[in-house]
Amino acid sequence: MTPAAAHDQNVTCARRTLQTLNLDTRLARLQGDYYSVVPPTPVAEPHLVAFNPDAAALIDLDPAESARPEFTQIMSGNQPLPGGVNISTLYAGHQFGVLVPQLGDGRAILIGQVRGTSAKAGRGELWELQLKGAGKTPYSRFGDGRAVLRSTIREYLCGEALHGLGIPTTRALCIIGSPEPVQRETVESAAILCRMAPSHLRFGHFEVFYYRGEFERLAPLADHVIENYFPQHLDHEKKYAAWLTEVIERTARLMAQWQAAGFCHGVMNTDNMSILGLTLDYGPYGFLDSFDIQHACNHSDDSGRYAYDQQPAVGHWNCSRLLQATLPLLDPEPDTAVQIAEAILERYSEVYVKENLANWRRKLGLREARDSDPELINCWLQILHRSRADFANSFRRLAQIRAGSDAPEPMRDHIADLAAFDAWVTNYRARLRQEHSDDAERTERMNRINPKYVLRNHLAQAAIEKAQAGNYAEIETLRLLLTNPFDEQPWMEAYAEPPSPELQKVEVSCSS
Ligand code: AMP
Ligand code: MG
Repeated sequence: MTPAAAHDQNVTCARRTLQTLNLDTRLARLQGDYYSVVPPTPVAEPHLVAFNPDAAALIDLDPAESARPEFTQIMSGNQPLPGGVNISTLYAGHQFGVLVPQLGDGRAILIGQVRGTSAKAGRGELWELQLKGAGKTPYSRFGDGRAVLRSTIREYLCGEALHGLGIPTTRALCIIGSPEPVQRETVESAAILCRMAPSHLRFGHFEVFYYRGEFERLAPLADHVIENYFPQHLDHEKKYAAWLTEVIERTARLMAQWQAAGFCHGVMNTDNMSILGLTLDYGPYGFLDSFDIQHACNHSDDSGRYAYDQQPAVGHWNCSRLLQATLPLLDPEPDTAVQIAEAILERYSEVYVKENLANWRRKLGLREARDSDPELINCWLQILHRSRADFANSFRRLAQIRAGSDAPEPMRDHIADLAAFDAWVTNYRARLRQEHSDDAERTERMNRINPKYVLRNHLAQAAIEKAQAGNYAEIETLRLLLTNPFDEQPWMEAYAEPPSPELQKVEVSCSS
């Protein structure tokens, strides 16, 4: 099946217009200065750069709407969404380990929340529509309230790429471009991303009130989150503990998924951690090309705080910050609250260890569990690391190994330490034979777990450079490709190639 055909199959029947969306903006009902109401700042000459029919299907929006001039006007913030709102929220955060007591949606404005009816609507079926880059808000600090075309393309594509891999993430409906100049390292052109998530609330939304000592403002916000996104805990005797346990578990699971996908977030500040356990705020992220376990994708991250191998520990640290900020919800007696929080935090390690091992087992095609598996997995990762082998392609090649053969493996060409690799393959084959693994079935199963195509930086960069020259086709090509990342798409073979040494130098930083 071609990607386009596969994609058409996925898009459910959607009939609503922007005038008739099923709006149900829950945050707007929350009383108590949790947000400011500010309309977007209009931009000059807005035009449609990218439109995602899969995201439109989540809110039952007719894809034909994207062709109407009004769509561009509304999604640029130049016209209000009929029946919509203009909300930017207040939050704080630990940035690179340091508390910043006041942050907030400096350039993101919630224009409405839609209740989707399609079966594919996902968690909660509620979808906030948020315009990122829509102008200054009371939380802009020194920022200009804008986003650049480059960063909106990166966010648009990566949300779809992670979704294609089955990893919880925010999505994106569209990108609107404008020729308005925006000063970053160089002058770039402005763009607005309409991103979607059931909620964009972050750990930092709780931290802000804790560090201000405004403890009484924590419960209404937590109640809003539980009622709308964790209703299963509403009637729980200890509803805050039950809810926080689930947030911590989801975060641990997400970290395990990132590691298995070779995904590096790049800026895991607590203000970039979703209260729903979604991947949120795509900046200087990266998928591993050649495997360096200490890879730090953010060029500005000198100390490697958010390097690939640090992510699980940072996830844990961030969860402890959330639990600290919500201590007043757990018990009026501080010592008891701390004890409860510590017990909840233990779930992080339990879930992470279990999920992580299960993920790597799956990636290696193992169905049964053996005590020696962690060593087998670690040894394989060490070999890849020492060889700086391509992460994604190595797992696709691994799927070709035959359990019963003694022939030298073709993938030796990609490995530096051949003695270690040959010894490892001998063990791996023996392990596969122990569970009577069927070669063809295992190859098929592994290729459903290990993607052929990931959003390598150089691919996103090529789409960006074409878009900056006025050609947006490559954005759609990548979106379609990454919707089916596990399928062989022989006409797209070049997109599975690792970058040339020259292209590997593409640098990404916090500038967006
Ligand atoms: P980030 O590093 O992108 O996660 O952003 C940190 C904080 O700065 C968030 O509160 C953003 O909303 C805000 N921010 C980032 N860039 C801008 C900008 N260009 N204008 C206004 N606020 C911004
Ligand atoms: Mg952020």
